Amino acid sequence: AAKERGEGGCQRYTAGMEARGAERNRRTAALRTAIMEDQMVVFFQPVVTLPEGRITGAEALVRWQHPTDGLVGPGAFIETAEQSGLIVPLGTWVLRAATREAATWPGEQTVSVNVSARQLREPGFPGVVAAALRDSGLPAHRLTVEITESVAVGGGATGENLQGLRDLGVRLSLDDFGTGASTLSLLATCPVHQIKLDRSFVPDAGGSDAIADAVAQMARAFAVQAVAEGVETAEQAARMAALGYDRAQGFYFARPMPAADMKARLNVAEARR
Ligand code: C2E
Ligand code: MG
Ligand code: MG
Ligand code: MG
Repeated sequence: AAKERGEGGCQRYTAGMEARGAERNRRTAALRTAIMEDQMVVFFQPVVTLPEGRITGAEALVRWQHPTDGLVGPGAFIETAEQSGLIVPLGTWVLRAATREAATWPGEQTVSVNVSARQLREPGFPGVVAAALRDSGLPAHRLTVEITESVAVGGGATGENLQGLRDLGVRLSLDDFGTGASTLSLLATCPVHQIKLDRSFVPDAGGSDAIADAVAQMARAFAVQAVAEGVETAEQAARMAALGYDRAQGFYFARPMPAADMKARLNVAEARR
């Protein structure tokens, strides 16, 4: 009986593994098709000054315009993209689409693009960025590359690539700041222009702002810009401004929106100057 249970368990386990592998292959194939068939779109979420709330640019956030499921957020496919390596062509596509769009924005508006550790490991990544800037006409200082702390253990060409991006004049931002294990050592070894406090540390009403405060002080010590992400209320905006955050992003100011809506907003904002 024990042997039967063992075999049965083993069979079920194998079948489960095969099913998961098949499911992974199916998701990868669907994503590859989506990228090839132009089903990806870039949304933009405004970044504003604190305390004024003036728009200074936007973060590019990828979406999948699925033929039957509608608009799908990156939470549903970025992991598949990372595991399959499709994040490299997808990331290049986002970078090129975002810089092309931002080059049409008025004034000195900036664009931030998320880059995964996998992209940053690829030898020649700065060349991909340089080509996107050249082809779009966007000046390098108007592009910010957002990286997460996982790049600290990046390996490959990560170190040279970060230096290569700095040499291009592109700005670097540490995204989801505070959620990784290597935050402090990374700041020491990898000079960036900006840190974005993860939204889990933006204090709720009545909650402690000790971490948000400490990160703002750290940003001042390293002379980097501090951005608060996930700001959902007026109270949070006021609190983050009082703590010394320079910039904010969040549903309180604006949700991610299609490129045409973003451009309309920027043109209105620019006309008011
Ligand atoms: P992220 O870079 O930290 O982007 C911020 C996320 O927070 C976005 O989710 C945005 O819609 C959401 N957000 C903004 N304001 C608020 C708010 O006030 N409240 C709440 N609850 N959420 C807010 P989204 O668009 O679903 O993207 C999730 C993550 O997917 C991004 O986190 C980023 O890590 C990744 N991602 C998105 N686009 C790309 C891309 O082109 N390449 C790569 N490698 N990753 C991407
Ligand atoms: Mg980001
Ligand atoms: Mg973030
Ligand atoms: Mg985040």
